[in-house]
Amino acid sequence: MSAPEPQRYHVVTFGCQMNAHDSERITGMLEQRGMQPATSSDDADVVVFNTCTVRDKPDQKLYTQLKQAKGSKRRRGGAQVIAVGGCLVEAQRDILLREFPWVDVAFGPGRISDLGNYLELSDGEGAGVGLVPGSGEGYYGIGDERVFASELPTRRERPHHAWVQISMGCNMKCAYCIVPAVRGRERSRAFSEIVTEIEQLAADGVREVGLLGQNVNSYGNELPRDAGPRTFAELLRAVDAVQGIDRVRYTSPHPAHMRDDVIAAMAECSTVMPQLHLPAQAGANRVLKAMRRTYTRERYLDLVHKIRAAMPDISLSTDIIVGFPGETEAEFLETVDLCEQVRFDGAYTFSYSPRAGTEAAAMEASFIPAAEQQRRLEHLIATVRSIANERHERFVGRTEPVLVEGADRRGRQRLRGRTPHNVKVNFEGDAVQGDIVPVSIVHATSESLLGRQVVAVAAG
Ligand code: SAM
Ligand code: SF4
Repeated sequence: MSAPEPQRYHVVTFGCQMNAHDSERITGMLEQRGMQPATSSDDADVVVFNTCTVRDKPDQKLYTQLKQAKGSKRRRGGAQVIAVGGCLVEAQRDILLREFPWVDVAFGPGRISDLGNYLELSDGEGAGVGLVPGSGEGYYGIGDERVFASELPTRRERPHHAWVQISMGCNMKCAYCIVPAVRGRERSRAFSEIVTEIEQLAADGVREVGLLGQNVNSYGNELPRDAGPRTFAELLRAVDAVQGIDRVRYTSPHPAHMRDDVIAAMAECSTVMPQLHLPAQAGANRVLKAMRRTYTRERYLDLVHKIRAAMPDISLSTDIIVGFPGETEAEFLETVDLCEQVRFDGAYTFSYSPRAGTEAAAMEASFIPAAEQQRRLEHLIATVRSIANERHERFVGRTEPVLVEGADRRGRQRLRGRTPHNVKVNFEGDAVQGDIVPVSIVHATSESLLGRQVVAVAAG
């Protein structure tokens, strides 16, 4: 008798790095339970949507995909489990299951570690997913019910790179942001647990780790003060000491918590890469204050100065929101000017999007019209792109150690990888995934580099 066909899953991920990592855990857990990836949602026994609700756009995308999922479930005669997780679920817990009754399970971002049980418990048969479609259960919580999903196995997107969650939630009160409402107050993972996970990753062949949190550099604030090391700077030093880990990055820090001890640890630890994502959000003091960012333009620029004094070649990137309620043209131009002064290597740029329940969503009278937001966004993108292009030119003619990720996605006879500054490189060479090889850079754009692997010439 032939073995039964394995059940298949399809995971659709929206949003930030944290979600990408949560999806790695979800996928790892499903595979541990004997499932295999499907080629599309039509072909899947279980479809998991891991959602984002930071802006309206991902919300709309999800609704479209959920409507399509209703079709795929119907085509399979109802034999498909649809699970929706992530931030949107927490924000819309009252309406999601009502508006989309074909969704079988809804689970907030703090409840991922139990997803296997939610799917399995419904049929009570052990391994595999046998949930009765249509049961429409919801599992939520932004308080003590939240659990780090660190116990789940992970299916990493890049075999030699791993994300490691160090904290969950956020205690800041940025006026535009829904994250604190959907992910709850900040909680740090135990220091030793993080270091142990990274030691295990190194033993598993991982060479680069990215420490993840909504506000990574306030890590440890609520950990006991007398129980050994607990600050973010101490964590960077401890991770730097893990044998086998060659590259350490982190995202996202908050400028207000970027203390001298963190800058010193970055500068002194050889594995902590010369790259920092430092969200500025805006360049005008009135807007920064209305956003409740807790720093001024001058403090942000001083911080950049301090970081560059310690690490002159560091690459800096940022997040910017244009069209925050009441933002004037002059204030917008101050943001453009901030970008010109700092000379970021890259930036994620967003149009302000009102999120129900946040402070800024109530400033309706001063919302900026969508067409004007779009004009500002395009202006900013053009500025940021041209600066990034110029910044990347500094690499041309240099030889950079590149961590190889695999074959160039466009299928040419080339490899792809990343430099210490986290810039993507496509290059000719014969290295294999996971190698760190010298690559001579011959061309730069605002997004990536082009190069050639340097081959050592044998002596004699
Ligand atoms: N905790 C990180 C921080 O403070 O930088 C990231 C939070 S959020 C997931 C990522 C980015 O989305 C923010 O830095 C901000 O630029 C943007 N964002 C958040 N809320 C937004 C909103 N309502 N409209 C537009 N962009 C928003
Ligand atoms: Fe949102 Fe601000 Fe917290 Fe970042 S620091 S997650 S933008 S509230």
